[in-house]
Amino acid sequence: MFKAELLERAARARSSACTGDGDGARNLASCPSLVLNADYTPLSYYPLSLWPWQTAIKAIFLDRVVVIETYDREVHSPSLDMKIPSVIALKQYVRPSEFPAFTRFNLFLRDRFSCQYCGDPHHLTFDHVVPRRVGGRTTWENIATACAPCNMKKGGRTPRQAGMHLYAQPIRPTHWQLQQHGKLFPPNYLHETWRDWLYWDIELEA
Ligand SMILES: [Zn+2]
Repeated sequence: MFKAELLERAARARSSACTGDGDGARNLASCPSLVLNADYTPLSYYPLSLWPWQTAIKAIFLDRVVVIETYDREVHSPSLDMKIPSVIALKQYVRPSEFPAFTRFNLFLRDRFSCQYCGDPHHLTFDHVVPRRVGGRTTWENIATACAPCNMKKGGRTPRQAGMHLYAQPIRPTHWQLQQHGKLFPPNYLHETWRDWLYWDIELEA
């Protein structure tokens, strides 16, 4: 993702969400807080770890998070005025499990939401690489993301029998690998105060 595009996105986000003007209640509802782990990296990139601002404020009072950045908007109650947090960090580090759960979402994320036979990102399904009828199991190592046409074409055959090639042999990914893949999917909404925390380690273009 190019920096210019990020900046443009941020500018769009600035004008569309959590600003002081327009429909107050609706804008307030769209002021999520980006949640960082205690090491100041996002808890999750994709889906991006976001909490509603109410949850964030509750966590502040429970002394579970520190506020890193705020929106310009304030919330008022009889006892306090407070700027809405836009970035918060957990005080206690949450250690991610080394191996993520075997879910549809994580499987697609491992395969970067693209067919492992042709690269198409549309009409994604799951393919048993070794077909079930010959004993292929439903495991990380035997399921690949495939578009519907490729899945249909392959039918109940192995890739070799079908003359089809996998981009990569399916593996059980680590949490770190999925996080890396998650970085490839920037959120639609990107507040300016989130940028430093999401993309500080992105490689700069020469
Ligand atoms: Zn395909």
